[in-house]
Amino acid sequence: MTVTYQPVIGLEIHAVLETRTKMFCACRLVGSTHAEPNAAVCPVCAGLPGTLPTLNQQAVDYALQVALALSCEVAPVSVFARKSYFYPDLPKGYQISQYDQPLARNGRIQIHTEAGEKTIRIRRVHLEEDTGKLTHLTEGNQPATLVDLNRAGVPLLEIVSEPDLHSAAEVRAYAVAIHNLLRYLGVNSGDLEKGLFRIEPNISLRPLGNAEFGTRVEVKNLSSFRSLEQAVAYEIERQTAVLESGQAVSQQTLGWDEAAGHTLPQRSKEDAEDYRYFPEPDLPPLLISADWLEKARAALPELPQARAARFQKQYGLARSTAETLTDDPAVADYYEALTAASTPQAAANWLTGEVFAWLNQHGLGISEFPLEPAALAELVRLAAAGEINQNTAKTVLAEMLATGQSASAIVAERDLRQISDPAQLAAWVGETLAAHPEQVVSYKNGKTGVLQFLFGQAMRRSNGRAHPEALQAELQRQMD
Ligand code: ADP
Ligand code: MG
Ligand code: ZN
Repeated sequence: MTVTYQPVIGLEIHAVLETRTKMFCACRLVGSTHAEPNAAVCPVCAGLPGTLPTLNQQAVDYALQVALALSCEVAPVSVFARKSYFYPDLPKGYQISQYDQPLARNGRIQIHTEAGEKTIRIRRVHLEEDTGKLTHLTEGNQPATLVDLNRAGVPLLEIVSEPDLHSAAEVRAYAVAIHNLLRYLGVNSGDLEKGLFRIEPNISLRPLGNAEFGTRVEVKNLSSFRSLEQAVAYEIERQTAVLESGQAVSQQTLGWDEAAGHTLPQRSKEDAEDYRYFPEPDLPPLLISADWLEKARAALPELPQARAARFQKQYGLARSTAETLTDDPAVADYYEALTAASTPQAAANWLTGEVFAWLNQHGLGISEFPLEPAALAELVRLAAAGEINQNTAKTVLAEMLATGQSASAIVAERDLRQISDPAQLAAWVGETLAAHPEQVVSYKNGKTGVLQFLFGQAMRRSNGRAHPEALQAELQRQMD
């Protein structure tokens, strides 16, 4: 009898909080790429002896927003702890984190996949500091490692899920949901490639129906949702093969080799006791008053899932469209401005169709789209009102993007107005039939396919301006 294995997966996500200054000092946050190495470093984040950390209130505010948005219980008292280990990117020899008394616990988030809707439980949300960055130089005869402490002490939020995920698709949906949430709250830039949003899946298998979990591995260094999904799928397959061959999965930390498409061992996993956790003596417990919590709750914006639900109701959009439009808050804002000056469904079609295609093609985000919502709305209105037909509208959009002219100016200047005048349509059809007598004969002999060709010819005579349905009807009338 063959055993069916169930994947069991829990995620640890580290998100850089985009505060003005670092977690425990006044150094500013600099983007990882633009600043000179060690340009934003002081004695505190360099870990010099005798310095003292001071907690960044903005980081706590941000963390509270996330905790509340995830429906967590926020601890009135939480405690920072030292997690000790030696590594050259960690000058203090320990990382300040939260351990047995985190800021928040027991939250949840809704995800949905093709298999349906699901609630994933959040185990904990806590604050910690980031480490520095090492650059290993391998060229030359003397290999060397450079240390950059710009990132040391940058605030991180760690979000740990319960092992409630059971497939690569669910893992992706969960990670995307958290990613969207943080972007909505404006606390994280969401840049995976720059390491500002890091996802580490813990993956194990167990015989389906077993209550007990199997041995897990943890995968590090995933820089896209795609590699996350691939790494999880790969591990499920690998562990299934290990178990089916009668061997045991060994607990370890793995890396993901993007190019090769497989995981590879990094180091065997430390247990918590290796870190010698103890309460940070230089920081008092973090007290969250009822008042502070209320302020954080009051400051919560409309969240992505709520916004998608509202879009469905208020604008009558299909669920998938509402979700596509609310994925990115900037897109949702653009849509609401666009629909205010046009109609909801037409606005949605243009935005998710032509505009998204253009942005994809140029590798740009909506904030870089050259047309203001009001300018695009004019085009959407002209098309919806039948002033220009759909194909012409696409040409006009391209022209707007190329020249910056308004839709109405382009339509007037190039005489693109849609023509529905029956006499005019009848004339174009008549001319077309006269020019193609052979096709007319074959149509009469039952080759109905030529109708498409004749329609195209008649449309061409109109310079693309003919009302398509009316032209089609007129063609049909003259052929019968
Ligand atoms: P740490 O990695 O620091 O030991 P935890 O033990 O809290 O932290 O677990 C980290 C993550 O691993 C959590 O998301 C949890 O849901 C998940 N997890 C724990 N046990 C398993 C398991 N057997 N299989 C898969 N995921 C697991
Ligand atoms: Mg871990
Ligand atoms: Zn500093």
